[in-house]
Amino acid sequence: MSGARTEEKGFYGVYGGSIVPPELQEALNHLEEAFEKYKDDEEFNKEYKYYLKEYVGRENPLTFARNLTEKLGGAKIYLKREDLNHMGAHKVNNVLGQILLAKRMGAKRVIAETGAGQHGVATATVCAMFGMECVVYMGLEDTKRQALNVFRMEMLGAKVVAVAQGQGKLKDAVDEALNDFVANYKNTFYLLGSAVGPHPYPAIVKHFQSIISEESKRQILEKEGRLPDAVIACVGGGSNAIGAFAHYIDEPSVRLIGVEPDQAATMAEGVPAIIHGFKTLTLLDDDGNPKPVYSIAAGLDYPGVGPEHSYLKEIGRAEYYTVTNDEVLDAFQTLSKTEGIIPALESSHAVAYALKLAPQLKPDQIIIVNISGRGDKDVEHVFKLLKERN
Ligand SMILES: *Cc1c(COP(=O)(O)O)cnc(C)c1O
Repeated sequence: MSGARTEEKGFYGVYGGSIVPPELQEALNHLEEAFEKYKDDEEFNKEYKYYLKEYVGRENPLTFARNLTEKLGGAKIYLKREDLNHMGAHKVNNVLGQILLAKRMGAKRVIAETGAGQHGVATATVCAMFGMECVVYMGLEDTKRQALNVFRMEMLGAKVVAVAQGQGKLKDAVDEALNDFVANYKNTFYLLGSAVGPHPYPAIVKHFQSIISEESKRQILEKEGRLPDAVIACVGGGSNAIGAFAHYIDEPSVRLIGVEPDQAATMAEGVPAIIHGFKTLTLLDDDGNPKPVYSIAAGLDYPGVGPEHSYLKEIGRAEYYTVTNDEVLDAFQTLSKTEGIIPALESSHAVAYALKLAPQLKPDQIIIVNISGRGDKDVEHVFKLLKERN
């Protein structure tokens, strides 16, 4: 599989790495060893593909958005339908791969941290499926704001630990999860939700999310007999984007485009800094600490981004743009009305950029937009946002 060139394991140019205390490094080495052993193992991959088909419902379609294409009058638009996966988003590709790895490593217990609750629910789901004990750390404030997701996790059999330390937010939940991991890594697997964190996590998450572009490349070649001119994905931590880009990175004719909220513009405004044990472009406050960011899409409010995106930007291989909340809300409604597909607010960022790009391109050009998730979870929120706007 293609990838950014790494001078040293875990580095993407100057980004990435593993800047952690020795106790944690020991746990990460243990994980890296297992990942290296299984990632090309035939039996392991057979099992992964089996569950992708039978549990997740892959492969999902690459849908030609005929109405939207006609409306915009430019490039042909195809939608990669991660919204049709079990649980309605791309996150399952990664949590499934990691839980199979956990099983091979002999782990009895899985831990995770979650902010809005999406990754916690995804982790609790596969733990239920594979009969693993599951503990999810969540900031106390977040458990109050996301009570329904807490209930979902509990219904799936997970234990949710509300972290009251610090500000009771995601960062505090991460700290607690790391303490647990260091103390218990011999029987506990720390399941990380995006293409972030110290090595080997960004490599692991990319590996499992690459199924998105493995499929879309095969599908577009079947449908059009050629590669797309651009692939567009939204960027939070960067997992759906790196998965949507992976098999095109070594195809220079394909533009790779990541889209962020303008109020969490990590790629546009971030500076190189160390965050959560790795180096990447990060939004910092005046004191040099990671800046609290905001997005109308809960899955995009991370102040950093996966290290490979920082590198792809630096070498000019990928482009990153921001869109406004108004553009996102318009895109949410436009795709719903023209195609009968309600995209997640996160995915609506990618759609919003596609609405701008397509009319600038010619009708014989092709864009793939990664629909990272479905928007049912966001309908009530959008209802309120539209009321405020009018
Ligand atoms: C979590 C989430 C995202 C953001 O995460 P990435 O790691 O950047 O992909 C995007 N879309 C949806 C639907 C999500 O649930």
